[in-house]
Amino acid sequence: MSTPVSPPTGSESNTDAASASFVDVRDLAFRYGDRKALDGISFSLDRCRILGLLGPNGSGKTTLFRILCTLLQPQGGQIRLAGLDLEADPAGVRRRMGVVFQTNSLDQELTVAENLVCQGRLHGLRGARLTTRIEELLERFDLGGRRNSRVRTLSGGMRRRTELAKGLLHRPQILLLDEPTAGLDPHIRQEFWKHLTDLRDSSGITILFTTHLMEEAEVCDRLVILDQGRVVTEGSPVELKDRIGGDVIVVHSPDPNGLKARIQARFPGPASVVNGAVRMEQHRGHELIRDLMEEFSGEIQAVYLGRPTLEDVFIRETGREFQASAEAISR
Ligand code: ADP
Repeated sequence: MSTPVSPPTGSESNTDAASASFVDVRDLAFRYGDRKALDGISFSLDRCRILGLLGPNGSGKTTLFRILCTLLQPQGGQIRLAGLDLEADPAGVRRRMGVVFQTNSLDQELTVAENLVCQGRLHGLRGARLTTRIEELLERFDLGGRRNSRVRTLSGGMRRRTELAKGLLHRPQILLLDEPTAGLDPHIRQEFWKHLTDLRDSSGITILFTTHLMEEAEVCDRLVILDQGRVVTEGSPVELKDRIGGDVIVVHSPDPNGLKARIQARFPGPASVVNGAVRMEQHRGHELIRDLMEEFSGEIQAVYLGRPTLEDVFIRETGREFQASAEAISR
């Protein structure tokens, strides 16, 4: 785990790489017939950062991902990636970009090394140059011992790492990943993310990924939360959770709307009903819980107190729970 992926050279390097916004997306719009999939999406990102695009099913992640990797043409707005306008120079953007799709893109009957050789040839790499790059990547992703194994014999984590190596062979400046660890066990997810953060730190690569997993979204430097084709909020995961301030209290009751009204008449601060439970945000939440229990114990079935999570951020911004089914899909 040490050989860095060398920074781009020759025509791949560019003066814009030093500019503040390495990724700049403005007012992006896309619709399928009458259905708006992206409705004025804007965000930006500095170089050498990891950006997560988090949203429940139907929020527009796939559409956005496909536009960013030039598979779909935007119907409005502008995108600049690594200093290039995507619409004006899609081929230039593609040269600077590595893509890791959620679905398998490896030939199962070929070995790890053979898959990488094929990919390298597609990028015009040959001979010692290609061999060196493959060796660098096999070492970086702990695949050296499995170079001659057929892909079908690899574990899920090894396959993802092979996909990653494949996406990095041409030394891109930006790496795009679609739901990178969906379907992997938690410890394999962690390991995969360690590879990605090492890559950012040692190679200066800029990483964008889509996800519907809160846990996965925690690792990024900057998070853009999407819902129904719009950006609902953005910031680092810590900033977003800090904005809530205090604790989150959730009270379960047979009559949540009635209890909410009675709580609001008695205590300051907003309360709402989300998914059949009363929800409040409060500094020193344990004191409020004590007061609630004194006042309404006969109406309370259960009380939950917690530090804000990204789920709480989503609820605060949209008034709805993050699609609970999204977690289930990945299992
Ligand atoms: P996500 O990846 O977050 O689930 P998508 O980008 O797939 O979101 O979808 C965004 C919206 O566009 C959803 O309302 C979805 O139903 C709609 N949509 C996606 N693909 C198509 C399509 N081919 N035709 C019509 N509507 C689509």
